[in-house]
Amino acid sequence: MKIPPRGIAKQQLLATLATYRAKDVAWRSGRVFGYVYDAGREAEQACKEAYLEFLGENALDPTVYPSMLRLENEVVAMAAAHLSGDEQVVGNFTSGGTESIMLAVKTARDRARAVQPEIARPQMILPVTAHAAFHKAAHYLGVQAVAVPVDPETFKADVAAMEQAITPQTILLVGSAPSYAHGVVDPIDGLSELGRRRGLLLHVDACIGGFLLPYFARLGEQVPVFDFRLPGVTSISVDLHKYAYAAKGASVLLHRNKQLREHQLFACADWPGYAVINPTVQSSKSGGPLAGAWTVMRFLGDDGYLALARELRDGMRLLLDGIARIEGLRVLGEPQMTLAAVASDTINLFRLAEIMGQRGWYIQPQLGCGPHPATLHLSVSPSNVPHLAALLTDLAAGAEQARGVAPSEVAEMVRQAFAHLDPTSISDEVFTQMTAMAGVQSTRELPASLAEINEILDALPAAVRARLLTKFVNDLFTPPRQDE
Ligand SMILES: *Cc1c(COP(=O)(O)O)cnc(C)c1O
Repeated sequence: MKIPPRGIAKQQLLATLATYRAKDVAWRSGRVFGYVYDAGREAEQACKEAYLEFLGENALDPTVYPSMLRLENEVVAMAAAHLSGDEQVVGNFTSGGTESIMLAVKTARDRARAVQPEIARPQMILPVTAHAAFHKAAHYLGVQAVAVPVDPETFKADVAAMEQAITPQTILLVGSAPSYAHGVVDPIDGLSELGRRRGLLLHVDACIGGFLLPYFARLGEQVPVFDFRLPGVTSISVDLHKYAYAAKGASVLLHRNKQLREHQLFACADWPGYAVINPTVQSSKSGGPLAGAWTVMRFLGDDGYLALARELRDGMRLLLDGIARIEGLRVLGEPQMTLAAVASDTINLFRLAEIMGQRGWYIQPQLGCGPHPATLHLSVSPSNVPHLAALLTDLAAGAEQARGVAPSEVAEMVRQAFAHLDPTSISDEVFTQMTAMAGVQSTRELPASLAEINEILDALPAAVRARLLTKFVNDLFTPPRQDE
């Protein structure tokens, strides 16, 4: 493809764009249990109108766009109050959970550089269930992630084991409220106490739960305290593009005070252009996500969020109850919010995910990892609630169908052939061989069936898996040829 020699009419382009969507997941259908946090058309419309209104504003420079500064401070104030922050709490609006986490880790790293310069190889201690974004931050920022096993029954962080992992190089502790994979809240009170006792920062990853858990608590659910009420909590990430139902590109990182937050900022006045003083990773950025988030928060309001939370809570009871009745399926741990991991000893879950796909549902497979078995993940959003009974009917039928499916022979072959492979030694030839074994015709197209591919990946060590996926995605993002 090249830039067209002459401009094309907008209507024609929009029609073309619509055709590009043909294979996208139908995210408004209520049948998608991940990626989508849908509170219905009215909330979406309010967010969208404000988003478009501010699409062209540049939040790069608050002195040029005072509206951006005001909106950001107001969104942060609402998030801080929601998480029991006092007047000392400050924060910033970021593009998502990953950026919030990245900045929390950067803050800890740069604070350590300032106050503990003897630390040469900084480490952060995470439960193994902490989101992959921490590993990404570790990778980008040169901080080592030390992942500690969790309780094998509850899947919650093991505070004593995390204490054992502390070394003189430790700069940060991490807990999740709740974890993405299992939907359980770590014992943040224990981690807070540990952080205080050992003089360590504690980041609470409430990306997915920070907005919803306070409403679950108000509905009388057993929600452990995880926010600024605990004195050892020094920062919290909370995504607005999840259970605040804002458009994608909306998260907040909160710090207990300004002194800590200072280490988050980047300043450069040492080049011939404009002075750059950025609180976030992004520099130039659209005002759309911020205005959209501000608007949806005030459009739904406290009573709107509480009503949605009640629907979710009731829906979760139905869902967890229903899954428990399906022979061969079991929910791991005791989910405390709206996320659940479903495991099985008898049913091929990757096949089940595919069968559910054929029945019009999207359910996310999670690969096995160490002692953690492969699971199916369900994140429930308000638009899913009316469809839960139908989901359970299909899940029971799908489980019956998947029960008879034998494990993939290719996966077993691959396991035996490549289990001891050094991931760095996977050449392009070996990669092509492996993808051919998996029945993938071309790595420049998305494969039609993912069940066997997931089974194969599940059979491989994590490092080999990561390497294969890297190669695959590196191929996937190949631009069309110039004459295409
Ligand atoms: C979604 C999520 C993240 C990452 O957020 P993105 O917005 O996808 O970057 C981090 N932690 C938890 C617990 C999450 O659910």
